[in-house]
Amino acid sequence: MTAPLHIDGSFGEGGGQIVRSSLALSLVTGRPFTIENLRARRAKPGLARQHLVAVKAAADVGQARVEGAELGSTRLVFEPGEVRPGEYDFRIGSAGSTSLVAQTVLPALLHMHGPSVLHLEGGTHNPLAPPFEFLAKTYLPLIARMGPKLDATLYRAGFYPAGGGRLTVRIQPGDSLQPLELLERGPLRSGRVRALVANLPAHIALRECRTIAEHSGWEESCFSVESVTADGPGNVVLIELEHEHVTEVFGAVGQKGVKAETVALHAWREAQAYLESGVPVGEHLADQLLLPMGLSAWQNRGGGQFRTGPLSQHAHTHMEVLRQFLEIVIAVDERDGVTTVKVGPA
Ligand code: AMP
Repeated sequence: MTAPLHIDGSFGEGGGQIVRSSLALSLVTGRPFTIENLRARRAKPGLARQHLVAVKAAADVGQARVEGAELGSTRLVFEPGEVRPGEYDFRIGSAGSTSLVAQTVLPALLHMHGPSVLHLEGGTHNPLAPPFEFLAKTYLPLIARMGPKLDATLYRAGFYPAGGGRLTVRIQPGDSLQPLELLERGPLRSGRVRALVANLPAHIALRECRTIAEHSGWEESCFSVESVTADGPGNVVLIELEHEHVTEVFGAVGQKGVKAETVALHAWREAQAYLESGVPVGEHLADQLLLPMGLSAWQNRGGGQFRTGPLSQHAHTHMEVLRQFLEIVIAVDERDGVTTVKVGPA
């Protein structure tokens, strides 16, 4: 077995992403790792339930030996075995993000010969995590452009605190990950705003649409108010921007005590900044594209490149984790607020 990597969980952004990316990369490369000072910079350090589900999901998919997989644990040892494609059922048991768990095990399953199906239960629209629509319309279609066939279906929404959302991700691997280039986004094909409410009055969603209509000047046909089924109350406003080469999704989740107008404005400000930036890749997509491109580079397939705005702390942290696991080169060129990231073999 190769020597384990020692990762300091407190470096950079110091959050759950260090854990999830390490799990994903360990499964793909077969390299064991130990993380100390896990989530040291968070108010409640150590593993939260959502991370624990990611650890257990990764252990299940990769038949791994694990130490420290407990709530609040600040040290984790992960020794992967053989990754098995197949049908998996992961229940978070809280409103923790299902998309983050899906993203943890997906890279390893892309490398298998057989297909896999992931059934996930938990939160589907969480603050500080990719909403389901981002997974389905932004992230998975870009990975699919690298070769595999992927699709995601939402059966039931899951909001904090009740959770209970359900989705399925189907994975049909290709040969290996082809390089991906996203330097231009092309013309805007459509802008769409969807305001979803579950077990809450429709006026919340209507006010969100009205707020975004006032700021964007978009016509009425771009807006929809949708009542969805969920275990508890919940609300999310989603702005889907389809350009020729990429679809970006910006969302804000309604919270008790926060006015619908404020929630809507939060989503609109992000979408507006993206529209004005002219780059194809938004802040969140930037940190998430690094891993699949890194794997493509590691397989000597080329990696890829993209243009985005200023890089987030998440993106910088993610690059460090990738450099520890993979012998690849990540070059960053930042000028006048536009960043070009190139990922290639060492
Ligand atoms: P962490 O904070 O370390 O648990 O990581 C959160 C992950 O979720 C990062 O990859 C973020 O880019 C991603 N993320 C957070 N908010 C959004 C959002 N609104 N849309 C898409 N991805 C998001």
